[in-house]
Amino acid sequence: MNTPKIFVVGAGTMGQGIAQLAAQKGHDVCLYDLHSIALEKAKSQIEKSLEKLVEKGKLTQEKQVEILGKLKFVNELHEVSHSDLVIEAIVEDVAIKHKVFIALEALASEDCILATNTSSLSIASIAVALKVPSRFLGIHFFNPATLMPLVEIIPSVLTDPKITVKAKAYIDGLGKDTVVCKDTPGFIVNRVARPFYGEALRMYEEGMADFATIDWAMKTFGGFKMGPFELMDYIGNDVNYTVTETVFEAFYFDPRFKPSFTQKRLKEAGLWGKKTGRGFYSYDSNEEKPKPNTDEKLGMEIFNRILSMLVNEAYDAVFMQVASPKDIDLAMVKGVNYPKGLLEWSVAMGPEKILATLETLFLEYGEDRYRPNPLLRKCVREGLILG
Ligand code: NAD
Repeated sequence: MNTPKIFVVGAGTMGQGIAQLAAQKGHDVCLYDLHSIALEKAKSQIEKSLEKLVEKGKLTQEKQVEILGKLKFVNELHEVSHSDLVIEAIVEDVAIKHKVFIALEALASEDCILATNTSSLSIASIAVALKVPSRFLGIHFFNPATLMPLVEIIPSVLTDPKITVKAKAYIDGLGKDTVVCKDTPGFIVNRVARPFYGEALRMYEEGMADFATIDWAMKTFGGFKMGPFELMDYIGNDVNYTVTETVFEAFYFDPRFKPSFTQKRLKEAGLWGKKTGRGFYSYDSNEEKPKPNTDEKLGMEIFNRILSMLVNEAYDAVFMQVASPKDIDLAMVKGVNYPKGLLEWSVAMGPEKILATLETLFLEYGEDRYRPNPLLRKCVREGLILG
């Protein structure tokens, strides 16, 4: 296979990361944006990022020059005509994406694969604008695209299976871990990870524990690198809240994904986390970090509740055939740095324990949010291990 030529549309956060990664892997890359200022910014940020790699001794100067030589910054769409793969990373607006893909389709060669990096729109809703939607699919990178190993490959109902295989091979060639998933809200990671935030917020709202204690519990008993509140502050409460709200609405208001008022208020108040200096925590170095309550029983209760909700979500994704059990576990380890795949974790802990925690919550609250997944029940009943 010749090294495919890649055309990246949109030179924002994701576009520049994808373009840099592809050039580092030896591809000829065109990075396109409507706004020349965005292109200039992207160019200087990529240069800075490569310079850092040289300083750290991770890249030679010759290689840096070679990579920069592979990148072309363009504001003309017709440059797409020689490309093998287009990855679109522009604003999350279906009407604008339609316009751009209609223009791209008219200019790209017949064999060129067209892909979107959308996080929250359905692939089918974008595909429908194309004359030949069979060559279109989702290729979902994580931020920062240069570093995060996972990429979700999402064919729509209109995608030709051969295109899915070819696109996956292209992205495998970039050194990424690829998983294939159904065109359903949140794909794998943004769906399965929701309880990590949602259940933490719920416990806080009930007054069960404060942010620092919940974060401590998840790091201490679960081995997570960051606690839910630290992670929400890091992602940004504006972004994280919006993802939750989008998934909730897309699932026809399933209570499992219900957003939290606490986080909504933080979003509204501009307390977005690290980037604004304050979120759940203050990032003012003069302020002391709150101390957790290190009661072991409470810590275990918090950990068991969040993990059980996460595992339930992983079983649901298998049950609804969103992806294979293997890909679901891989996605959570490579896409959000979980210490273990959730299905593997459930087997290690004993799925009957997870089921018991969920049944207790379901009985106590009477809320659909805590309903145990039928596949989890089946696995416990029949001693099945998914894989
Ligand atoms: P961004 O706002 O950083 O960048 C968007 C870029 O698109 C801007 O440079 C803008 O000038 C350009 N643009 C807007 N309209 C355009 C048009 N009509 N033609 C060409 N360029 C246009 O956005 P982002 O955070 O990089 O997100 C881009 C896409 O990637 C979205 O679909 C988003 O859902 C998805 N995504 C984002 C993340 C993330 O963490 N930021 C992660 C995964 C996927």
